[in-house]
Amino acid sequence: MKELHNIGWYANKISPKLPKNAFKPVPSRLFGGLAYTIIIICGILTITLCRFNNIINFLISLVLGFSFASIGFLGHEILHGTVVKTHWLKNLLGGMAFLPLSIGPNLWIKWHNMSHHANTQHEINDPDAWMSFEQFSNRSFIKYIYKLPLWFRSLFSFSALSISFTLHGTRMFFIYVKEFKRQKSIKLWIQFILPWIIWIGLFFLVETDKWIFSYLLPFLIGNFIVMCYISSNHRLNPLVPINDPLVNSLSVTVPKWLDVLHFNFSYHTEHHLFPGMNPKYYSLVKEEILKLWPDRYHQMPLSSALKLLWKTPRIYYNNEELIDPRNKRIYTSLEKGLKPNKISYHNL
Ligand SMILES: [Zn+2]
Ligand SMILES: [Zn+2]
Repeated sequence: MKELHNIGWYANKISPKLPKNAFKPVPSRLFGGLAYTIIIICGILTITLCRFNNIINFLISLVLGFSFASIGFLGHEILHGTVVKTHWLKNLLGGMAFLPLSIGPNLWIKWHNMSHHANTQHEINDPDAWMSFEQFSNRSFIKYIYKLPLWFRSLFSFSALSISFTLHGTRMFFIYVKEFKRQKSIKLWIQFILPWIIWIGLFFLVETDKWIFSYLLPFLIGNFIVMCYISSNHRLNPLVPINDPLVNSLSVTVPKWLDVLHFNFSYHTEHHLFPGMNPKYYSLVKEEILKLWPDRYHQMPLSSALKLLWKTPRIYYNNEELIDPRNKRIYTSLEKGLKPNKISYHNL
């Protein structure tokens, strides 16, 4: 593997070239959150109070699902402290933004900010990193799944993207809640249960088909959209012993209008370099990276990243490669030359 550098090494070289404003909180980004909140409330009220046919209800579900994901991206940003600085307000707004996906703000800060960001793609310490071949060898259920052909596993895992975010978040809750002291863990429990009270409560308030269109379908769509980005963030990159954001992260490209609606979530390498920065300035960071380290930076269209995720297995082999235990084929990671038009493997 090439020489690795930590986040500070890159940040020190780029930050003098960025405007001071880039690191100031930007409360005006809450207008986007307000717009999505209005769309979500109106969408749910329209489905539950009106009698439209299922095609119109489904179209509203699509808009709701898109909004669930988008406001989640804003929640991510808020909880990094780039929108407001006041602690309680940050947690309240972040919690509200993550309400549709049922993730509590304190859990998110522990899981995402303190664990994932601090230990990205570390084999043991990153809660979001995929397992190594050694870890795989001790997991009997996963071993059973990996007896199935790659195309079937891909179909299964892409379908599972529609619940993965909330499911993984729930798993994280039960792992991390034990690490908090009593008072904080009660807070975590309340934040965990509250969204479910709301969404299950809605089930008892409205007819089942209206609940499906107003919550269940948007929940699945929202999870799927969020996970399309998240699964492309690091899963094609190698595991690393040093948190080098250019080696362990991938930025995807999407149409400009989608970047606006998704709060620039596509710039993931830039985000790992400067998690406390207003995402409006990520394109400037990208320009600087491309000037200084064009060969180290990974980027591709989101659709290409998804295609690569479909066509490659997810178990790491010697940190830099991916192995399909079923036929012992070893695929390259992005660091070893994996490209959308160049998927190569060799046999173990
Ligand atoms: Zn990440
Ligand atoms: Zn983040």
